Amino acid sequence: MKLLKLIANLGYGSRKEVLAIFRDGRITDVDGEVLYSDDKVEHSRVRIDGEPLDPPPGMLLMMHKPTGYTCSTSDPGQVVYDLLPPRFRQRSPVVATVGRLDRDTTGLLLMTDDGKLLHKIVSPKSKLPKVYEATLARDLRGDEVKVFASGKLMLESEREPLAPAHLEVLGPRQARLTLTEGRYHQARRMFAAVGNHVETLHRSRVGGLELGALPMGQWRLLDATDLERLF
Ligand code: URA
Repeated sequence: MKLLKLIANLGYGSRKEVLAIFRDGRITDVDGEVLYSDDKVEHSRVRIDGEPLDPPPGMLLMMHKPTGYTCSTSDPGQVVYDLLPPRFRQRSPVVATVGRLDRDTTGLLLMTDDGKLLHKIVSPKSKLPKVYEATLARDLRGDEVKVFASGKLMLESEREPLAPAHLEVLGPRQARLTLTEGRYHQARRMFAAVGNHVETLHRSRVGGLELGALPMGQWRLLDATDLERLF
């Protein structure tokens, strides 16, 4: 791919704007030699103002989502995209969230520009376990582990019962829930179905990937090892 297209697709500007950057001689190879818009050079060898380019297409990242941010692109309030470099919103292909977390849910959110990978992760066939830590408004009543594991729990306005889910009771009002599906507001609706209310919800794991020490509001790119851990 010609450098003009490669760099414009990474969100550095329109073709016209990127041409102007070339004209100013700000795009060089790793050895400092000035590059031109028609050149075809490996992504890793290109520098803009001496800095490496943003990650190439096919990137997957993990964010520690704070409360108060939605996963929507059109919400007038705070959105998770605000936590990424502004250029990431101008990329083609676009960077999208892998599934969604509610505005008030914290924790591990994946984002990618790789449509195939996104579908592989969210596909019901993948059955990737997603682990949530919930704090509840009322004491657990005692039958939740059984009800959630039954494979018979029907949520309002759903046609199919939920797949069996694993609940670990951590305290009278604290539990760890592992889901293999991603239905709308699933964790909150499950606890509502057993007469409770989720006060806080935090996703700590997706597949074999954990947030680790990633601070809230921060993100990091995932590499091949992380990807292996995911599936
Ligand atoms: N279940 C929910 O209810 N909310 C989330 O954000 C994720 C899972």
